[in-house]
Amino acid sequence: MYLIGAGPGDPKLITVGGADALQRADVVVYDRLAHPRLLDYARPNAERVYVGKQADRHAMRQDDINSLLAERALRGLTVARLKGGDPFVFGRGGEEAEFLRERFVPFVVIPGVTSAIAAPAYAGIPVTHRDLASSFAVITGHERDDARESGTRAPGGAEQRRRWDKIAHAADTLLFLMGVENLDEIVGNLIAHGRREDTPVALVRWGTWAGQQQTLVGTLGTIVQAVRASRFTAPAVTIVGEVVSLRERLRWFDNNPLYGKRIVVTRAREQASDFADRLRTLGAEPIEFPLIQTIPPPDDYAALDAVLPNLAAYTWVCFASAPAVRAVLERLAVLGRDARAFGSSRIGAVGPATAEVLRAGGLSADFQPFVLTGAALAGSLPGDLANTRILIPCALEGDESLVTGLQARGALVDTAPAYQTILDGANAALVRERLLAGTIDAVTFTSSSTVKNFVSALASNLPPSVAAACIGPSTAQTAATLLGRAPDIVASRHTMDGLLAALTDYFAAQAAVPLPQTA
Ligand code: SAH
Repeated sequence: MYLIGAGPGDPKLITVGGADALQRADVVVYDRLAHPRLLDYARPNAERVYVGKQADRHAMRQDDINSLLAERALRGLTVARLKGGDPFVFGRGGEEAEFLRERFVPFVVIPGVTSAIAAPAYAGIPVTHRDLASSFAVITGHERDDARESGTRAPGGAEQRRRWDKIAHAADTLLFLMGVENLDEIVGNLIAHGRREDTPVALVRWGTWAGQQQTLVGTLGTIVQAVRASRFTAPAVTIVGEVVSLRERLRWFDNNPLYGKRIVVTRAREQASDFADRLRTLGAEPIEFPLIQTIPPPDDYAALDAVLPNLAAYTWVCFASAPAVRAVLERLAVLGRDARAFGSSRIGAVGPATAEVLRAGGLSADFQPFVLTGAALAGSLPGDLANTRILIPCALEGDESLVTGLQARGALVDTAPAYQTILDGANAALVRERLLAGTIDAVTFTSSSTVKNFVSALASNLPPSVAAACIGPSTAQTAATLLGRAPDIVASRHTMDGLLAALTDYFAAQAAVPLPQTA
């Protein structure tokens, strides 16, 4: 039985130990403050139980959660209880542990990154600072922090029992959790007990959640009105103290040009997560729409298997994609051979991802073109290619420009299908709905096939308000034809980094243009 801190939201903020325990779990019990992405760590067949926790809608009562944990654990299952932030900072982790102890269920506590510190950090507010604050205190905004979770109010007079004289001066920086609903009481009591009205205050809502984080800044004198005016709601951390003023200079997360942008990622399933992670790091909300899935070619590798024993007879073996490399390495293993089958033939690769997979298989690319296209590889492959034998393990529906380019230089080119891509329409309904609702800012295309598949999976066009972003010119050309309009963004470097940079530039330029004023 593991009590695991999920961290405050950003799925990268779980600990290595937490992720490890999730991988081992038979049952994962989680609530709404844990990022759903974290469930991906669990095995596909692990049981996933959502136990809610929202101010007014409880998916499950605390007693039932306790019983569920003990019952599964006593059945011999490995249970992971995933709790937002740190499991022992409010949120009743201590009680769950006590309950387990009474039933002789052994448990391990894996601490987490608490929202009390991480939400301010993502808003550019350090909780201590040499000149401004030498201490911080984490305080519940409710006398009994379970009051609203269990649906019962704290016993009468709860607020009277609070020692506001002590709380007001508990530390230089005061961090209130669960304090949005009671903000006026908190603020009133702090002022009544000697905190100045001009003390800076910030509320950070959904801290560290890409695209969701919101920050409101004011003073003890102004913040209640500001919260009311903007209808700011939980979950939020309230920060009281001089450190709040540092946000102006230290803001880093929610001012990135990609912050809050909702971007559809259409790469093949295996490659999508990496790009999505990087968008999230920049504060964007990636909407994963894998579209294509890589599967074996229709001849079940017959053609590829036939050429692999003769690899060494080729002067060059050229790869235009990572799945082609993967298939060759896998088939070599199936045939009882390894990378030595390449003998002294030289290897050409388009793109760093392709070179990376080669490297993982113990092979280094002898040549990579500067411009990352098949045509560029064909044009720049060094030496006189007349009558040299070149093998291209490729996608069934691969880009012909590499083959024709090499043939034009007199090479004798053999191709062997190493994989094919098929349509994978999971998520299509969700993406269509969001496109129509106007809650998507951009769609990224990383190959012509992603454009084709996007159009056929959605069976609808891209609304003009949604930016189409392409990794390179041939993808852009397909997009122009199939989407009926020129793409808004074409990366000048044809890599994921290049695409990220192009997206960033695009949205930075957009932000710089003042919105037309409506009366
Ligand atoms: N154990 C958690 C706290 C649970 S109590 C932790 O260590 O973070 C629930 C309260 O935590 C919420 O009412 C809110 O005040 C705060 N909270 C949790 N996640 C948050 C987030 N991402 N942003 C802002 N506040 C958050």
